[in-house]
Amino acid sequence: MKRAVYPGSFDPVTKGHLDIIERAANLADELIVGVLNNNEKTPLFSVEERVKMLVDVTAHIPNVRVEAFSGLSVEFCKKCDASFLVRGLRAVTDFEYELQMAQTNRSLDRDVDTLFLTTALNYAYISSTIVKEVAFYGGDISGFVPPQIKERVYAKIDAFRAAQNGI
Ligand code: ADP
Repeated sequence: MKRAVYPGSFDPVTKGHLDIIERAANLADELIVGVLNNNEKTPLFSVEERVKMLVDVTAHIPNVRVEAFSGLSVEFCKKCDASFLVRGLRAVTDFEYELQMAQTNRSLDRDVDTLFLTTALNYAYISSTIVKEVAFYGGDISGFVPPQIKERVYAKIDAFRAAQNGI
């Protein structure tokens, strides 16, 4: 049984993430999407909301499971009994950080390898940050996120804005 873990913040999940999930699910017997519960970053969506979004957009892929985790990806990998981590590479700008992370993870645990999948070209420019920024200014995000996610992002941004304005 070849199990893989795809870790990330997914705040929110984008079409680029989903493309990586679909392709990685073809390579592994089981793919676990690990949603990072990171106290240092302040995400727009709670970890429970991010997990729910991923569960909804991956409902059509039978060998995908979604779980929240905190701490090191390699530890989560070990806990899941997974043999490799999956990461997506958009551009050279991702490369340096991703290489450093992969080397660090390998030195932490020699049994865990990192598998990089290059982004589909039409999704290469998409990031969760860009999605939030465009939505914040009222732009159309339907090209960036799966259809089930669009309204949730606008609603969350509205709630965020209302909280900021003390409404
Ligand atoms: P992190 O906070 O760990 O960077 P992200 O949710 O931003 O988490 O990304 C998780 C993984 O998905 C990373 O490997 C990232 O490079 C990859 N990724 C992000 N956006 C895209 C995209 N548009 N296409 C392919 N991979 C992507």
